[in-house]
Amino acid sequence: MSVPISQAWTVASYVLTQKLKGRKQYPLVLMLEPLYRCNLACAGCGKIQYPAHVLKRELSPEECFNAVDECGAPMVSIPGGEPLMHSQIDKIVDGLVARKRYIYLCTNALLLKEKLHLFKPSKYLTFSVHLDGQKEHHDFSVCREGGYELAVEGIKAALARGFRVTTNTTLFDGADPNSVRAFFDEMMELGVEGMMLSPGYNYDKAPDQKHFLGRARTRRLFRAMLSNRKPAWRFNQSMLFLEFLMGKRDFRCTPWGMPTYSVFGWQKPCYLLQDGYADTFDELMATTEWANYGTESGNPQCANCMVHSGYEASGVDYTFSSLKGLLATAKATLFTKNEDDEALLLLNEPVTPVHAYNPLVQIEAHPEKLEETRA
Ligand code: SF4
Repeated sequence: MSVPISQAWTVASYVLTQKLKGRKQYPLVLMLEPLYRCNLACAGCGKIQYPAHVLKRELSPEECFNAVDECGAPMVSIPGGEPLMHSQIDKIVDGLVARKRYIYLCTNALLLKEKLHLFKPSKYLTFSVHLDGQKEHHDFSVCREGGYELAVEGIKAALARGFRVTTNTTLFDGADPNSVRAFFDEMMELGVEGMMLSPGYNYDKAPDQKHFLGRARTRRLFRAMLSNRKPAWRFNQSMLFLEFLMGKRDFRCTPWGMPTYSVFGWQKPCYLLQDGYADTFDELMATTEWANYGTESGNPQCANCMVHSGYEASGVDYTFSSLKGLLATAKATLFTKNEDDEALLLLNEPVTPVHAYNPLVQIEAHPEKLEETRA
């Protein structure tokens, strides 16, 4: 695990405090979406298909600070959209750093190099760069030739200036586990602090509906990738969540663990679904029918979901729920190899990468059109 001790301590003491207070449902990471517009149009994304008047909207810094204060989570993830396109992203980050929140600014890094001067290195700020695998696979996944090189340039520039940098990788059906393992090597050589992984979610708004993973295929893919691990690989996320993805343990979804606040308000019930909105965080917690969500609920929207925004908080909560949880986490952190001969055989199975039978869809960059959507 690669999370700095100060961050691990902040999270551990926060979760233990919630436990001592007897709070069963508590937020761990606020998913703060300050805008939906983006300079990419990825085939698996369900966030950018909004009409122009929605794409023009931005949360103000004050709205962001109010949401962070209301929610109280020690970590804030800023996805979008592309947060570096927000006109006041520097003010938002400054305000969150002043509040001592650990921020993961999730970016495709196309603008990272040119916007770095807006930020100051801090232990509270991490650029979490979206890279879906090696060059060919990433460019296909984000529908943009050259996207990988630009992101790597951004990572190098950020590391050179002393920023914390991680990667976040979303995996879909057709991902080649050998290629992903080679990608882990590349990222470690680049010098990123750690990597984050998640399977994709089957957004009904996403342009590509054919390549979402079911639960059995997700477990198979992650078992192949994450067994027989190299010692150099570092992951910046719950080790128990990775075990969940590999099929080594089961968790129930905790959608309140990563609540989402966007230009529409507090989103019910989670980052992925939109079953209405609440005006305040308390209203979200009190009025969402939580029992209607999670795989066990029988809700078809949740049937195949194993996404980090539903299950990573479950892993963290399990860690601090009992001595068994603490020991399981210590074991998963100290003994990372996960030797598994059958998983080695999975690596020998033939894979047809999606880009081998689908052409790359190049999304034309029209700066003047992007300009139109700026608020
Ligand atoms: S299972 Fe997935 S889609 Fe359903 S509530 Fe949990 S995170 Fe959301």
